[in-house]
Amino acid sequence: MNVMLIRYGELFLKGHNRKFFESTLQKNMANALKNYSCNLRKISGRYELSDYDLMHEKAIIGKLTKIFGLHTLSIAKKIETEYELIKQECAKINLNKKSFRVTTNRASKIFPIKSMQLSAELGGIILEANPDSKVDLHTPEIEVRVDIRENGYTYISTDLIPCAGGMPLGTAGKGMLLLSGGIDSPVAGYYLARRGLVIEAIHFHSYPYTSELARQKVINLAQKMGDYLGKIKMHIVSVTHIQEEINRKCDRDFMITLLRRMMMRISQEIALKNGAGALITGESLGQVASQTLQSINATNAVVNIPVFRPLIGFDKQDIMDVAKRIGTYEISIQPYEDCCTVFLPKNPVTKPKMEKVLKEEEKLNIEELLQKSLDSEEIIEI
Ligand code: ATP
Ligand code: MG
Repeated sequence: MNVMLIRYGELFLKGHNRKFFESTLQKNMANALKNYSCNLRKISGRYELSDYDLMHEKAIIGKLTKIFGLHTLSIAKKIETEYELIKQECAKINLNKKSFRVTTNRASKIFPIKSMQLSAELGGIILEANPDSKVDLHTPEIEVRVDIRENGYTYISTDLIPCAGGMPLGTAGKGMLLLSGGIDSPVAGYYLARRGLVIEAIHFHSYPYTSELARQKVINLAQKMGDYLGKIKMHIVSVTHIQEEINRKCDRDFMITLLRRMMMRISQEIALKNGAGALITGESLGQVASQTLQSINATNAVVNIPVFRPLIGFDKQDIMDVAKRIGTYEISIQPYEDCCTVFLPKNPVTKPKMEKVLKEEEKLNIEELLQKSLDSEEIIEI
């Protein structure tokens, strides 16, 4: 019988938390596969998926490879652990002239032949059936995996499909992602979800200076992120009045610094109200004026929950590569305006002095501006 053998990793690091991690992982998998009839079961150290429609195989693999906590999967032949059956199965393998090696894993030591010896013997049988192939122990084109499990079954596979890695979504609490329409913030959210954080998103707009299309773009982004993140609760908040007020009263070169500080305050409020213990941004050191160490200090100073910046040490090219891989890039590069670009000053300060920031900020009624943004909050589930 053909099954999928699904491997997960890192969880063994978690000691007594392991049960919670495994059950969360299994729940996430079942949820991702809810539209397919199939049979998912836990075997020791692996999951086994069986009884699915072959027509859906590709789609199911598409779903599973996006589940955090899973490391690899293989399409495998499942047979009872009997030497004759294993040999018969190996004789059927078609390598298409490619080089190979056999790797045997004996989780069940009940099987009497040592792994090395078994690999060598099965290698001989496979070679006999594939006289045009050769054994290559170091860099084989195909690795034949013979996985002898404790449940009395052996799984033989010739492929290895990488999955998303990381920790199961929902095992690390919740984070509030500041989601712009750009390339970086979706990638930042992806990386922290990959560490197990459930992600909610907050998006700031300055309607009517920013358009309905700009807003729709961010919704589309969140939807795309859902491939990995599942359902996303999104908070959409206006900062128009804040920008107008800064524009009216303050040194405009401080627009971005002052706006960012307000964004952070609003985000912290909404995070705490929704049980999120951290903020997440797509900042990368030195990328733009608002991401110098001084600017980050100025914006960081107004909040007292942790701000995660997973991309802080990334090059733009690396971020773009990940964005392409997770499918957000194409949406991010659509040319709609972001609220930060609407009131962009000619000479934004790159190294804002704290003293001056505070002096400019004194001209604003922070509480009132904050409250007005909170009142504008609109929530959508994506
Ligand atoms: P991105 O590609 O994520 O837009 P960026 O390189 O354009 O990032 P900035 O515009 O300086 O960088 O924004 C830095 C971070 O601030 C973003 O990654 C995002 O987390 C947050 N941010 C910026 N604008 C918004 C917005 N309109 N709504 C929500 N968060 C925002
Ligand atoms: Mg941006």
